[in-house]
Amino acid sequence: MKEKLRYETEVRASSAFRSIESDIRRGEFSHAYFILSEDKDAIDTLFSLIAMRAYCDTACGECKECRKILLRSKPDVKYLAEGTENFSVKEMSDVIEDAGLTSFEGGKKLYFFKNFECVSEASQNKFLKTLEEPFPGVHFIMSASSSATVLPTVLSRVKQVVLSAFSEESVKNGLLADGVEPSRAERGARLSQGSFTRARAFASDEDFARHASEAVELLLGLKSSADVHTYLKSPLFSKERFLETIGMIELILTDVVRSHLSLPISLVERKQDVEAIADMYSATAAGEALDLCLKCRARLKANCVGANVADYLMLKLVEVKYKCR
Ligand SMILES: [Zn+2]
Repeated sequence: MKEKLRYETEVRASSAFRSIESDIRRGEFSHAYFILSEDKDAIDTLFSLIAMRAYCDTACGECKECRKILLRSKPDVKYLAEGTENFSVKEMSDVIEDAGLTSFEGGKKLYFFKNFECVSEASQNKFLKTLEEPFPGVHFIMSASSSATVLPTVLSRVKQVVLSAFSEESVKNGLLADGVEPSRAERGARLSQGSFTRARAFASDEDFARHASEAVELLLGLKSSADVHTYLKSPLFSKERFLETIGMIELILTDVVRSHLSLPISLVERKQDVEAIADMYSATAAGEALDLCLKCRARLKANCVGANVADYLMLKLVEVKYKCR
């Protein structure tokens, strides 16, 4: 039986896969790639497809080689930095030492870094020499959600590939094929901004409706800086939910902008709420508030204290609302 690879059809059709596939076909498989994408679900699938293609002409998913990859039992293919913890210099030294050894099965050796943003600067520096003088038959495939976390000296030594956003239709089809119920698949795709990871979160979020209500209530209730303390302890800003909350606020604000421009909104079931918020936030104010969300995302990712970020977010929301009247 064929192992199931999530969103396979869609990722196989991506320009990122096709460009690397074509390199392999022409015998020009680069010693190192950097794939820019925030979509970690799609990256998982892309990595499996690249690995299968490295050992099988069609990445068929059914032959002995492909099956070993799908079962993650091929000793010459390694998956690194899969978690969000720091990838240390010691770990990098081990990888470099391992890469210098002959392969177990006599073929290519592949190393996939899923969250290269977690590879420390010191580890990246350690890695430079290997990228400069690559071992024959050894390939490094790195991915990160932002290239800002990757040293320019690393980027200049690798082939850069972008995994572009998927169309809403592709995302929906991918979710359906993965067994997601049609109305949820539709909602997930609509809110996905072309990312399977976001789509899956929105499609599977049991609390989606409640979360949307709470975010709407926050935006409507936040009238002056005196209201900030009321919401500081809200579960919206708990460690587990804060990033999702920002995503939800972004969705609502994007709809506010669209509503001002008389464009169709995505949260159709909350049209009245969106209009009420649009009465409070001009298009310019909503635009500035969206920039503010990006800043808060960055602060959270840089491990700033949640309560401080929440305080900053709410004070600034009040500020842009009045400034842009
Ligand atoms: Zn195969």
